[in-house]
Amino acid sequence: MTEMTNNPDVPDKQDTQVLIVEDSLTQAEQLRYILEKEEYRVVVARNGVQALECARECAPTLVISDIVMPEMDGYELCRRIKTDSTLREIPVILLTSLSDPMAVFKALECGADHFITKPYSEDYLVNRVWYILTNRELRRDTYLDMGIEVFFAGKKHRITAERVQIIDLLISAFESALVKHQELEQANRELLESKEKLERMARHLEDLNQLKNKFLGMAAHDLRSPLVSIRGFSELLLSDDFGTVTEEQREFLETINSAADGMLALVNDLLDISVIESGSLCLQMDRGSLNGLVLDRIKICRISAEKKNIRIFTSFDDEIEGRFDRERMGQVVDNLLGNAVKYSPPGSEIYVSIQIVDEGARVSIRDEGPGISEKELGRIFGEFKRAAARPTAGEPSTGLGLAIVKKIVEAHGGRVEVKSRVGRGSTFSFIIPLSGDAVEVCV
Ligand code: ADP
Repeated sequence: MTEMTNNPDVPDKQDTQVLIVEDSLTQAEQLRYILEKEEYRVVVARNGVQALECARECAPTLVISDIVMPEMDGYELCRRIKTDSTLREIPVILLTSLSDPMAVFKALECGADHFITKPYSEDYLVNRVWYILTNRELRRDTYLDMGIEVFFAGKKHRITAERVQIIDLLISAFESALVKHQELEQANRELLESKEKLERMARHLEDLNQLKNKFLGMAAHDLRSPLVSIRGFSELLLSDDFGTVTEEQREFLETINSAADGMLALVNDLLDISVIESGSLCLQMDRGSLNGLVLDRIKICRISAEKKNIRIFTSFDDEIEGRFDRERMGQVVDNLLGNAVKYSPPGSEIYVSIQIVDEGARVSIRDEGPGISEKELGRIFGEFKRAAARPTAGEPSTGLGLAIVKKIVEAHGGRVEVKSRVGRGSTFSFIIPLSGDAVEVCV
């Protein structure tokens, strides 16, 4: 609490009545709480009109008014107080956000004695009230009709306030600016610290990510050979070359074979992701026929498509020569074609087209599958993201295929696109530039 009893000019706290003018009930109550704790008497008015009536009735020692209020704002209330000979000596403190320099002029014009910027600390407010009350007597004899004219922001302002009031107001404006400046400096320091902390965390995360990729790569690599063996040997046993197997044994072997198949798909995808993510994906960019590459992949895919009685149709522009990594681009086509077969119902059709477009060549694969909802479309190219569609014949699904497709296409300087509606099939496309020399590119 602030001690303010030594100055003979300062009225006893019990005799000091503060009129709060504030349309917000919570802010008014907050102010009342602070001032009553300091043992001031407090009266509250909810707007300028009510405040004027109240001021005439109870002759407060001090008025603290908000600026933005309905009916009559704080400036107008202050102007009326300062032009009323019976009220003009009551000091007026305006509560302002002081975000506009014009507020200083408006406050000078209306004759306000002091600013307090919102949000204010309790100590600051109590100090200011004390300061105003202590200096109240000083200003009594200094009412001079100075009538200075000042130009600011293209407007003439006539200020008729007395000297102490002008100085007080300017000091309080300066003080508020200083407080704001200190707050800004503090915020700046905190921001810098947060930035450094974030940078440290980002570096740490990057290290952990590299470690994860290394581990992923090693684990996938070591799991690959035993899985290939399990799949191969189960196939051999199923082929009856090593003797016939019983129906029950056949069932078990088929389960082993399809489980090994699924695990191998996952391990291969993990290996790809770890290579791409660790930044060691190297593309052997050679010139070659895009049509030829796509046709080759369709030939392989037809085997699984036929099992589902799915027919694949093609529509290609004339021979298109491009520049791509044959193996990786083949992987892109395999993934997209494989998905079209995997998620489509038996007996449906798939259309593959290649067209020349402004940016290069566009390869599109359209299916008559279940389609993908708009919400899911936004995330299916992310790692481990699976949508509602499920493989129609128990094929493996890792949620990594499209992430790999996107990364390989982007490494070629291209982009992927998807258009789909639930129940209406999907069209996945990728566009790659055609120009460029045969080089090795590592990304
Ligand atoms: P995976 O097929 O191994 O699950 P992908 O990354 O290739 O992983 O696909 C992600 C998800 O996108 C799939 O799980 C599937 O739900 C959906 N999806 C992909 N292609 C199609 C398609 N042609 N039709 C319907 N849904 C698809």
